[in-house]
Amino acid sequence: MSMNNSVDKKRIVLLGSTGSIGTQTLDVVRAYSDRLSVKTLVANSNVTKIEAQVREFKPDSVVMYDEKAAEELKVRIADLDVKVTSGMDSIIEAASAEDYDILLTAVVGMIGIRPTIAGIKAGKTIALANKETLVTAGHIIMPLAEEMNVQILPVDSEHSAIFQSLQGSPARSLSKIWLTCSGGPFRGRKKEELENIKPADALKHPNWSMGNKITIDSATLVNKGLEVMEAKWLFGVDYDDINVLVHPQSIVHSMVEYCDGAVIGELGLPDMKLPIQYALFYPDRLPMDTPRADFYDIASLTFEKADMETFEGLSLAFEAARTGGSMPTVFNAANERAVALFLSEKIGFLEIPEIIGNCMAAHKPVANPSVEEILVAEKETYANIERLEK
Ligand code: NDP
Ligand code: MG
Repeated sequence: MSMNNSVDKKRIVLLGSTGSIGTQTLDVVRAYSDRLSVKTLVANSNVTKIEAQVREFKPDSVVMYDEKAAEELKVRIADLDVKVTSGMDSIIEAASAEDYDILLTAVVGMIGIRPTIAGIKAGKTIALANKETLVTAGHIIMPLAEEMNVQILPVDSEHSAIFQSLQGSPARSLSKIWLTCSGGPFRGRKKEELENIKPADALKHPNWSMGNKITIDSATLVNKGLEVMEAKWLFGVDYDDINVLVHPQSIVHSMVEYCDGAVIGELGLPDMKLPIQYALFYPDRLPMDTPRADFYDIASLTFEKADMETFEGLSLAFEAARTGGSMPTVFNAANERAVALFLSEKIGFLEIPEIIGNCMAAHKPVANPSVEEILVAEKETYANIERLEK
């Protein structure tokens, strides 16, 4: 008797394939090429990297946001039968396609909002790394996902840990989230010790290797602020029930506390491939060939409160979160621009939260903003910063 072992492959549309999460997603696809395949790769402008990805993973199509990059890619892969397009409309079209299963969104920034909405409208499962989308448009994304009966599976490690810790328990019994945070490379320092920080110092994260923007966000603790908002949208908890917990070893990836006092967490060595793979195969767990946590070796785990005075980005995030409406967009957009300015050495490290605070103070929040209003708030914030910089 012959057995048919072939499983239908899950087809992925991958936004941000050339980035840190994107390439690790492709590592998972490579390891499980019998179960996963790539339908579309999307990036901004990194032609060299995406050419290699196209040759290896053989997608049907590629979208480069940047038009020139798309033209160059067309020439480079003229020998292949792969459709290459460019621009936001093409990204939205890729996310709206019929014939795929999972939209994994790993672009950086608010650019992810419209493609995510398109994917949900197409009824696709969303594996979400792109936290900025939930921070700014969570009030649109979550109800739409519910209406379309679409699952949003977190890829961010803390949120994956929370999601994993919630399996098998009724959502209504959740009473609190312990959102862990490594503390970043400057944990324990005071403000005056942060004045002369250079991009190279801030780009050295103690435990995780990530894209530049999120690495700076981890150094300012803005990343944790964004994650607090991400957690609120994903798990429907009040901000008062989200405790940020500094845990320098990054072994506990976050925990949930239930109404009976039980605390359940997900632990392991820090490796983004686990949350990526978990989202791609959810609710299954498949073997992964990575080093394991040896608790004899680790010996001790430590926890402390975040220093919100030094790392003002985190307190500003709670403020923006509690104000709600368009304020998280202003928080996020101001941070995106300030990080870019810091990376090009135009401003100092402490000016990042300063710019965020100034932009928030100048903004009159709109309740329940539409996507258009979110994009307007983003533009206004950029214009504000330009004015302030002059
Ligand atoms: P990277 O900077 O490494 O990668 C960003 C990706 O997005 C690249 O592929 C880039 O393409 C693409 N991109 C940028 N702008 C556009 C655009 N306008 N249109 C299409 N594609 C674009 O980021 P990360 O992988 O670090 O982070 C991605 C997201 O995941 C972020 O939201 C981050 O907060 C989140 N995240 C990341 C973690 C990590 O470990 N890295 C952990 C948890 C969450 P190109 O290369 O061509 O510029
Ligand atoms: Mg995270």
